[in-house]
Amino acid sequence: MTLDESWLNTIKQNSKKIKLAKNAGFCYGVKRAVDTTIKLKENNPQKQVSVLGELIHNSHVISELEKLGIKTIDTIPEKGEGICIIRSHGESDDIFSKIQKSGFELVDLTCFDVKKVQKKAVELAQNNYFVIILGKKEHPEVRAIFLNAQKKAQNPDNVFVAGSIADLKKVEDKIKISKKTGVVLQTTQTKEYLFEVVEYLSSICKILNIQNTICPSTTLRQQEAKKLAEESELMIVVGSKKSANTTHLAQLLSKITKTIHIEKPDEIENFKDLISNSKNIGITAGASTPDSIINKVIKNIESIN
Ligand code: SF4
Repeated sequence: MTLDESWLNTIKQNSKKIKLAKNAGFCYGVKRAVDTTIKLKENNPQKQVSVLGELIHNSHVISELEKLGIKTIDTIPEKGEGICIIRSHGESDDIFSKIQKSGFELVDLTCFDVKKVQKKAVELAQNNYFVIILGKKEHPEVRAIFLNAQKKAQNPDNVFVAGSIADLKKVEDKIKISKKTGVVLQTTQTKEYLFEVVEYLSSICKILNIQNTICPSTTLRQQEAKKLAEESELMIVVGSKKSANTTHLAQLLSKITKTIHIEKPDEIENFKDLISNSKNIGITAGASTPDSIINKVIKNIESIN
């Protein structure tokens, strides 16, 4: 090996390609919720501004909001004071009424794509479908879709949340005797899960009405991340483990390439060896991960190089 070649080799060893997915970080629904909440406090410095539940699944953003005087509340008090914000996940109609009755001034920041799912589920329930909501039962978005649809259904037992095919099998008899079955999805679900469900339901339903309500932002984020994963030795997904869209991203990508899911930039330290040994690294982030966190993750990866 000549001196020149060895020099080249070193450069190659040290040159790592780090690519950030274009649609990583805040989606339009989350951006609108965060920006509007901050503006509301700025424009109403004397008023108490509260958010019912964490505005987004990101502890860093929540503590920044707290510093600005924006409070997170878990329950609706009997007497509400100031403004109460409904986050992008949405709430059931009953919660809306409760907030208004308590005396709060209500500001609804439910994402428009979540509103669409709520509307579709209610329509199906009103038209006597056996309504299946594909998503996580305990997720606030799903809870609100479920409660609103159940309220409009002739039989409240005809609205069901399924997080897996195993869940659907529990109501197989009910589905088989139902004249019509309708399906909606939590906005952050995956196409892969939808396909699995369609295959299963097609064989047991009389009439099947599928409404693909995965939001465009989630679809784009997943498509792009999968493409990046195909050309990367390692994928790093940044975002809260409580965030549905982030965990789905990590699950999807781990089927394509080595994938790690981190919440905070300093967690990069735990994967030093893996990062040093990977030449092409792809990065993506969930819809509730701020740019500042993504940038710190990139810096920490570069420092390993
Ligand atoms: S993930 Fe989709 S539905 Fe949820 S807030 Fe973002 S854009 Fe809206």
